[in-house]
Amino acid sequence: NENLILQSEKLKVVGEIAAGVAHEIRNPMTVISGFVQMMNEDSNSPYYEHTKLIQKETERIELILSEFLVLSRPQVNQFVNIHLAKIFDDIIQFFQFEFQQKSIDIILQNNYPDVIILGNANEIKQIFINLFKNAMEAIKDGGTITLEVFPSKDNNEIFIRLKDTGCGIPSYVLERIFEPFYTTKTKGTGLGMMVINKIIQDHHGTIKIKSQEEVGTEILLSFPVVQS
Ligand code: ADP
Ligand code: MG
Repeated sequence: NENLILQSEKLKVVGEIAAGVAHEIRNPMTVISGFVQMMNEDSNSPYYEHTKLIQKETERIELILSEFLVLSRPQVNQFVNIHLAKIFDDIIQFFQFEFQQKSIDIILQNNYPDVIILGNANEIKQIFINLFKNAMEAIKDGGTITLEVFPSKDNNEIFIRLKDTGCGIPSYVLERIFEPFYTTKTKGTGLGMMVINKIIQDHHGTIKIKSQEEVGTEILLSFPVVQS
């Protein structure tokens, strides 16, 4: 479909421009937030309330940048062998405190701990950070996130399935889920899924989403594996 190709090209260009801008904003932001933090230490200052607000807003800018940064890497891809099991361990550890706080049980079913894919480790991590964040935000009062790993029949691909028992995704949201800045959250950026989609494409992977409102969401990823 020509229209779809055109649309995906457009998104690609928009994404690249935005990622470049994000990269340029990052350095001045570090300076601003550093000084605002210093100014905030004086609670007697007549500008105390203002600096607090500035700090809150700079944190929001930093959140937006963090969802983009992974895309602003130099064009030369440095793909190396990545042990998926190590990535999962890191991510689960990274979110452990939040899982506990939100009464989320995490189930990891990986009978293939030696699987290796070719890629950029930071980007692959970013995929799972963004997916876990969404899953956590979809779960209101406690639930389960399941991560399953299994190979394709011909062993050329590895599948990763992430299931959550969250609120689910209505079809009108699903249609637009990869659009930049599309969000249903008051504090969302609408960048998480767009970034994931870009990274997966760069890694010759696929993503499929199945969801049922009030039941949960299933996200199926696949990547080509490195044969050992
Ligand atoms: P954000 O999380 O900042 O809103 P994303 O691109 O990560 O942006 O997600 C876009 C939208 O897709 C979300 O606002 C939400 O409505 C929906 N969504 C994504 N993942 C899930 C999920 N696991 N469960 C329910 N809704 C989801
Ligand atoms: Mg998100």
